[in-house]
Amino acid sequence: MRWSQTYIPTLREKQSDAELISHQLLIRAGYIRKLAAGVYVYLPLMQRVIEKFSNIVREEMNKAGALEITMSVLCPAELWQASGRYETVGKELMRLKDRHDHAMLLCPTHEETVTHLLAGELKSYKQLPLNLYQIQVKFRDEIRPRFGLMRGREFIMKDAYTFDVDEASFNRSYQAMVDAYFAIFKRAGLDVIKVESDTGTMGGKEAHEFMFLVDTEAGEEIILTTKDGSYAANVEKADFRDLAEIKTDSEMKEMRTVDTPGAATIEEVTAFLGVDPTRLVKTLICMADGKPVAALVRGDRDLNEVKLKNALSASELEMASPEQIEECTGAPVGFAGPVGLKDVPIIVDPLVTKLRNFVVGANANEKHIVNVNIDRDFKATRIVDITLARAGDAPPVGDGVMIAKRGIEVGNTFMLGTKYSESLGAKFLDAEGKEHPCIMGSYGIGITRTPQAVLEKYHDRKGIIWPSSIAPYLVELIPLNVQQEAQVQPAEAIYKTLTEAGIEVLYDDRPERAGVKFNDADLIGMPIRITIGDKSLKEGKIELKARCEETVELVPLKEILAKVRKMAERLK
Ligand code: ATP
Ligand code: MG
Repeated sequence: MRWSQTYIPTLREKQSDAELISHQLLIRAGYIRKLAAGVYVYLPLMQRVIEKFSNIVREEMNKAGALEITMSVLCPAELWQASGRYETVGKELMRLKDRHDHAMLLCPTHEETVTHLLAGELKSYKQLPLNLYQIQVKFRDEIRPRFGLMRGREFIMKDAYTFDVDEASFNRSYQAMVDAYFAIFKRAGLDVIKVESDTGTMGGKEAHEFMFLVDTEAGEEIILTTKDGSYAANVEKADFRDLAEIKTDSEMKEMRTVDTPGAATIEEVTAFLGVDPTRLVKTLICMADGKPVAALVRGDRDLNEVKLKNALSASELEMASPEQIEECTGAPVGFAGPVGLKDVPIIVDPLVTKLRNFVVGANANEKHIVNVNIDRDFKATRIVDITLARAGDAPPVGDGVMIAKRGIEVGNTFMLGTKYSESLGAKFLDAEGKEHPCIMGSYGIGITRTPQAVLEKYHDRKGIIWPSSIAPYLVELIPLNVQQEAQVQPAEAIYKTLTEAGIEVLYDDRPERAGVKFNDADLIGMPIRITIGDKSLKEGKIELKARCEETVELVPLKEILAKVRKMAERLK
């Protein structure tokens, strides 16, 4: 491709609305342009990256026995009402009405569509197992679209769905996808780890996320893992064993209300009363589907909102506003407590049940209650793990302590069980003619997120350094001065030779200064650069350089094809 015939609008200036380096680079190097929050146009170079990565995904999916289809973006609301997700997914779901006033939606994922498809078609166990996938656009009205292609409102996903007759068969299908995922990310230049994750509104039993570990802000997910990786989980999901040594009193003491003037935070209250934070119990008022609940965790720990949401089977959970807290407890923020709290379910973490004579808020301004004991002074509506695990906790099984890492979720796999096949009727007849719902799995990969995640790692001060597997072009060819026929001639010849040999070349045929061309080349990041300049040309040579290396190799014109091939092999 000749630069003069494509469209690569590179920019010199730093982009103020792009926080991540990968996002900066995509805009500055002319890969994407923003249309609205979380909505982007993919320019020619990005289009090629997407194609390259999609093809890797396709090859590995096909190898694993999956079949490519394309499902519609639009979906009638009835299917989502049948699965229950029309209500549970909330505002992220893009809803619309057609001209007949019929409720429709833009699919954020396709479990309903694919299950409905098979519900009308599946008859016998002989048709299974089945794995259907697509690479297609998705819509989610994300609460915080940000970081460019990392979290868009319109984005591309590979989504696959498996249908099996029994658990054993399902496990094979699931493992085939896990293996394919490791192969896919490796080919794209990413080392990923597989971690346990929350199933969220997807439902089902278990789920895993494929995380690319980074130490930048791009890592939106926190992962807790043992050093040897024997346990790894998203913090939202992580189980743990608490290692804190808690001193408990042998006897229950008399409960007392005390004044705590000016002390509302944990630090202030513990300092004022002279007790350890582990002797305090935090009462957090949350709104679960619009109704208040009180969540009790030990003073030195934090609430895991996902665990609480799951425990309550709530669709939406948020921390109560100061007004809601005041309405529910009768006191300003900082003084909520379980004693005397009326008409509010009290969810208590098991770590709290181990304490005796603890401190809580008194539901009155600047007052706390000391020597509080569960059962004697208040009743737990439920006792369930709602504590956020943290670095330094022990893993649920095994030795050692967990460490925290940051990751970008590039893919995930869900064990769906029969949630969708039951509700949407994807059933089959076994050999005896008995009907069963299929056991399903669903598997996503971010087709636009992953290449941007790659850039968080593959870049330097000057710009992008693509791994050759997903680079738009393998080679960028630069004659330094296109006014000189002596340079243009070999450039054209090399362009022809390489292109005919099946090597993808971006030929910078612009009448620009050498400096501009070099800067652009470093910015857009093709893996191999060929430079044609007067000096080396006098000796019948041209310059060959890998973007990821400093050294420049002088190569006789005639050997260029062989040398490029060799370098490409080395860079793989
Ligand atoms: P996240 O926790 O990051 O919101 P998710 O759990 O909602 O992701 P899935 O619904 O399983 O993700 O989607 C499958 C894959 O699609 C994700 O692993 C991710 O790579 C990609 N993806 C999800 N949401 C977005 C988005 N808003 N923008 C770009 N890619 C996304
Ligand atoms: Mg999401």
